[in-house]
Amino acid sequence: MSHLVQVLLHTPVYSQIAGAFTYLSDNVLPPGTLVRVPLGQRELLGVTWDQAPDQPPDRALDPARLRPVTAVLDTLPALNANWRALISFAAGYYQRAAGEVALAALPPQLRDMSSLQLARKLKKLAKTAAADTSAVSQNTCPAPQGKAGNTADPVALSAEQARVIGQFQQNQGPFLLFGATGSGKTEVFMQCTAELLANSSRAQALVMVPEINLTPQLEDRFKARFCQMYGNDAVVSMHSGMTPAQRLNSWLAAHSGAARIVLGTRMAVFASMPQLRLIVVDEEHDPSYKSGEGARYSARDLAIYRGRQEGAKVLLGSATPSLESWHHSRPAAEGGRYLRLEMPSRIGNGQLPRVRRVDMNHQPKSCIVSPPLLAAIAQRVARGEQSMVFLNRRGYAPVLQCTDCDWKSECPHCSAYRVFHKIDRTLRCHHCGLTERVPRTCPACGNHDIAPLGRGTERLEEHLAELLADIRRPDGQPVRIVRIDADTTRHKGALESQLAQVHGGDVDVLVGTQMIAKGHDFRRITLVAAVNPDNALFSSDFRAPERLFSLLMQAAGRAGRDEAVTHQSEMWLQTFHPTHPLYEALKKHDYPAFAASQLKERQQAAMPPFSFQALVRAEARSQEAAQGFLKLASAAAERHSDTAGLLAQLTLYPAVPMAMARIADVERAQMLVESPSRAVLQRFLSAWQADLHHTRTLPECKGVLRWAIDVDPLNI
Ligand code: ADP
Ligand code: ZN
Ligand code: ZN
Repeated sequence: MSHLVQVLLHTPVYSQIAGAFTYLSDNVLPPGTLVRVPLGQRELLGVTWDQAPDQPPDRALDPARLRPVTAVLDTLPALNANWRALISFAAGYYQRAAGEVALAALPPQLRDMSSLQLARKLKKLAKTAAADTSAVSQNTCPAPQGKAGNTADPVALSAEQARVIGQFQQNQGPFLLFGATGSGKTEVFMQCTAELLANSSRAQALVMVPEINLTPQLEDRFKARFCQMYGNDAVVSMHSGMTPAQRLNSWLAAHSGAARIVLGTRMAVFASMPQLRLIVVDEEHDPSYKSGEGARYSARDLAIYRGRQEGAKVLLGSATPSLESWHHSRPAAEGGRYLRLEMPSRIGNGQLPRVRRVDMNHQPKSCIVSPPLLAAIAQRVARGEQSMVFLNRRGYAPVLQCTDCDWKSECPHCSAYRVFHKIDRTLRCHHCGLTERVPRTCPACGNHDIAPLGRGTERLEEHLAELLADIRRPDGQPVRIVRIDADTTRHKGALESQLAQVHGGDVDVLVGTQMIAKGHDFRRITLVAAVNPDNALFSSDFRAPERLFSLLMQAAGRAGRDEAVTHQSEMWLQTFHPTHPLYEALKKHDYPAFAASQLKERQQAAMPPFSFQALVRAEARSQEAAQGFLKLASAAAERHSDTAGLLAQLTLYPAVPMAMARIADVERAQMLVESPSRAVLQRFLSAWQADLHHTRTLPECKGVLRWAIDVDPLNI
């Protein structure tokens, strides 16, 4: 006799169908079993799913027309109820089909494997695992870098670390570890992990980092410490830089329980970890925890959900927490839900750098590096110390301009300028990728004089090389400058080798984008300079000041990490607004004061975290079509009772072009939905989905290419 099974599939074409597909199976299949099923002409990987409680099995289904499951991948244990709850929650909350979220959470290689191939793979893995465990003693883990060459062993804790770990052990959390840069947060993460793993022979921990390439040291440190204890297979990575085969291996190790620690980027929040006891989210404020495509989930927020669901502790950490997490960690008496753990001091009483502001109103006109900053950098070079200079713009110049007519290097396909890259004399659009050789003469008037306008990291590097040409290092050698940005690190391994140069002391001045400002434990940097940070002060995005403050604090945190350097390190800011409150707070390294003033403004303006937002974005061949779709959808929301009833409790803003209105000839518009209640917003969005899908099918909306909902958007 045949049984009916519900199966989730990744079927973007049918994205209106949020539920599962029904198939026939000879055996009862527990929910969470991986299967292969036919769909049309294709055979797809699917996951058997629970029967939705509000949807009794459809008696009207004609069993004669149902198709049987092709294969059951039952060599793998079923994905457990907690994992399925996470998927269902994420799909519901971020307004996507459960099948899409579930299948995207599985390693891509699994999609093309037969059960036989999978069985072989598992056998092979079991063999290497056995071989590895016997080889634990001759540990092949990466050697930890940096001064603390003994990171493999737990260190003697500072008083603050010890106190914080005690609080962690005695409470349930979630926790927000608010620790200054260089306060030793990583050691806290490692010891909390060590304790939980020691408590149970099967416990697993998930450790998330924003971008694994930018935090290689964290990976090294965890591997050095835990491979030694639990074997090389006990720590696996999970990020998009891995090959499909590596990702599959990591996933299988986590799913089978062989991996005790999963280190990964945001995608790792969906790893199947049957014995999950701890989730660490390092640099929890980092925007890269929010996905920019598909289900636009926040891995940090899902970590909180997952921890509660599975009874795992959740530990968020940052020197500059997101205002959301900061607000959640206010005292419990005021409604806080996270426990704030504080480590204000740097290890070894290292001082935070002194912040110096250069008033650019009083510097030579259009100078890039002001004379006092230049002198300070030269002094560092002569002393054999390192400086880090950053500018958030790569390329040589953001615009090329004709000195005669109005021509500028606009991208013909985007609402943006193409950036001038001197190294290969190209104009490149950083949005659509269009790359062309720089024209010899102005395309509009034929003038020979076309000049770069503004500056990027490439030009800054060139400029500094000229300015510092006569400066000598203590060994009499000329100054060595290296640039690190997306252009110089395109090739695999390039970033690692450039960072190794910096760590090795081969570099005197490091120039780059915000890429260099994050996470690295540089030991010999004593000066950090932000060349042109003002832009974000007056941005229309209400989160811009938060991002700027955190970037500058992180950047400042790169300086003065070595106790051997006794004089105080410095953070320089070149600004036209030296008395701006953001810079005042930065000068005092006072994140709490900055956060308090921002939260006050947000409360007055009823913005997140005091309200909840979602964006509907539409893309079309014309702005009219994109906005037209949004207007029709909004009218539909007013017409239908299930959505109209909620409109009193939320605001549906008018459709507007996005800040980047056109990319690759696609026009983009958006509409903001806002409510003081998360529940109301959620109910509205769920009910409105059908309207949006329907609106898209109207003849007026022919030109619409796609639309999507972004819940808790970060960029507005
Ligand atoms: P954070 O992540 O808070 O910026 P790190 O974890 O990178 O700080 O720690 C800064 C430095 O201090 C690292 O080199 C680390 O090895 C070292 N460190 C951490 N804890 C201790 C300790 N208890 N004793 C000595 N050194 C420590
Ligand atoms: Zn011209
Ligand atoms: Zn373009």
